Amino acid sequence: MEEKRNKKKHCTAIVLSAGQGKRMGAPIQKQYIEIQGRPIIYYSLHVFEESNIIDDMILVVGHGQEDYVYDEIVRKYGFSKVRAIVPGGKERYDSVWNGLKIIRNGALCAKAGDGYVFIHDGARPFVDEVILERAYDTVSRHRACVAGMPSKDTVKIVDEDGYAVNTPERKYVWNVQTPQVFETKLITEAYSRMMRKESIQVTDDAMAVELEMQVPVKLFEGSYMNIKITTPEDLETARSFLKKRSLVKVNSTL
Ligand code: C5P
Repeated sequence: MEEKRNKKKHCTAIVLSAGQGKRMGAPIQKQYIEIQGRPIIYYSLHVFEESNIIDDMILVVGHGQEDYVYDEIVRKYGFSKVRAIVPGGKERYDSVWNGLKIIRNGALCAKAGDGYVFIHDGARPFVDEVILERAYDTVSRHRACVAGMPSKDTVKIVDEDGYAVNTPERKYVWNVQTPQVFETKLITEAYSRMMRKESIQVTDDAMAVELEMQVPVKLFEGSYMNIKITTPEDLETARSFLKKRSLVKVNSTL
């Protein structure tokens, strides 16, 4: 056990919270909307703070929101693993790159550059320690991995006019989630190559590794609860998950 702990690689979570969240149609960014009295972003930060896997965190927030996030979230809830709060960029990949540069520039401890990075959407409050353990196990064997779940629905590929052109076999279709987890050196090199290009069209971090490094990315099981809060319907679902979770806690103390 002691030997296993000594060998554990350093793990940094980059938590993304710089999106506009326009599809929510709310006056504040979705990650700061409260559910059960706490902002959405609180829930994943709390999981990372309590985790035996995660050693430190970098928070990527909207331009000019650094002080607000420090006062109202990091300090208020005592998230001691947050080592840096940095402004994000226009696209999600710009925000990830701003987070990765903090590690690359050596602003965290020396071991961070030789460890693993867990890139996580701050809008996914239901990540948990079991998912983080699975991620650690998978990245230590495969170098690059992403959480996901098999699609429950049949998926159709359509042409520009909306006609079905292909129906992939369902067992090969997964919905991808976060955390997306990589050897730090691998993802940093992938991003540094990608960010030098004129046109970038990646929608997740795995694509950067697939395209720039030709390293296969392994999928591991996240959970069907690990939803990304995007629209008002997702907020309702999140509220009901949290209500159920607090009922389970009360019951277990009876
Ligand atoms: O927009 P979407 O829901 O796909 O965003 C996923 C996550 O990436 C969210 O947590 C959002 O805050 C973050 N993001 C970001 N910077 C951007 C766009 C999105 O940090 N420019």
